[in-house]
Amino acid sequence: MTVNTENKRNGIGYCECHGHLMMDGTDFSAAREHHRRGVDVDLLRSALSDLSAAGVRYFRDGGDRFGVSLLGRDIASEYGIEVVTPVFAIHREGRYGSIVGKSFDDMRSFRLRISELREAGGDFVKIMLSGIITFREWGQLSCEGLDPAEIIEMVHIAHSEGYKVMAHVNGAETVRAAALAGVDSVEHGYFADEAALDIMADKHILWVPTLSAVEAFIGREGINRMVAEKTLKEQLDSLSKARECGIPVASGSDSGAVGVPHGSGTLREYELLRRAGFTTEEIASSNEELRHTFSACSR
Ligand SMILES: [Zn+2]
Repeated sequence: MTVNTENKRNGIGYCECHGHLMMDGTDFSAAREHHRRGVDVDLLRSALSDLSAAGVRYFRDGGDRFGVSLLGRDIASEYGIEVVTPVFAIHREGRYGSIVGKSFDDMRSFRLRISELREAGGDFVKIMLSGIITFREWGQLSCEGLDPAEIIEMVHIAHSEGYKVMAHVNGAETVRAAALAGVDSVEHGYFADEAALDIMADKHILWVPTLSAVEAFIGREGINRMVAEKTLKEQLDSLSKARECGIPVASGSDSGAVGVPHGSGTLREYELLRRAGFTTEEIASSNEELRHTFSACSR
């Protein structure tokens, strides 16, 4: 019996702990154009339908600028899925993140974004603390990480407003800063070093390593294949260490990103996590912990 059938039979279902209902798994720009002048409900329903068919029952969205995940949360029960969303992600003006959210340029405007999120009914806060992987040189990111002092302030504000914090972060130094600041989950977490893992273990911080999203770059045109392969391999090695030191690792594929179709992307993430040594039970237990931490009623 496949794990999929088994999960369905047990009524457990899969968890997608980091996805984007706004994206379609193939062409980001086209999907964005569809939603730009109001949510394209057919496209949204097709994403939910694919997720449901694969057995996904929980979906934590990483945010979008057009209200797609917000509407998705409203209609997801028709597909047997629970969706939680930060509405939009919050990034520093001029740094990475405009594709999934809105910007701030000082702490006053950061606080205003949190009020906006509250008005819209967001379930938690998503912050963007670093760039994305360039796949040109191993370890290279598209822009530098935010200042550690600023990260501490952002996390403090979000927590004092009663929200849990989902943090997009790559790079050893910025992952360390995010973990020290006490984010509730590290998203991606590529190039995290041992010191970063130690802090995450000490503080029992959830990690969503989005392996499928990086695997999807291997063999893509214009991408240095060796760099992509090494990035995935090193992340798998770090995850084996994370498992040994008890860091809770949850499954989130970046569902909807290019090369990560809704549904099959989530299933692939489970396979890759098992390759790093996690058992299906361990993944399910971390997912449950994440689900509990980020549930709207935990605020
Ligand atoms: Zn994402």
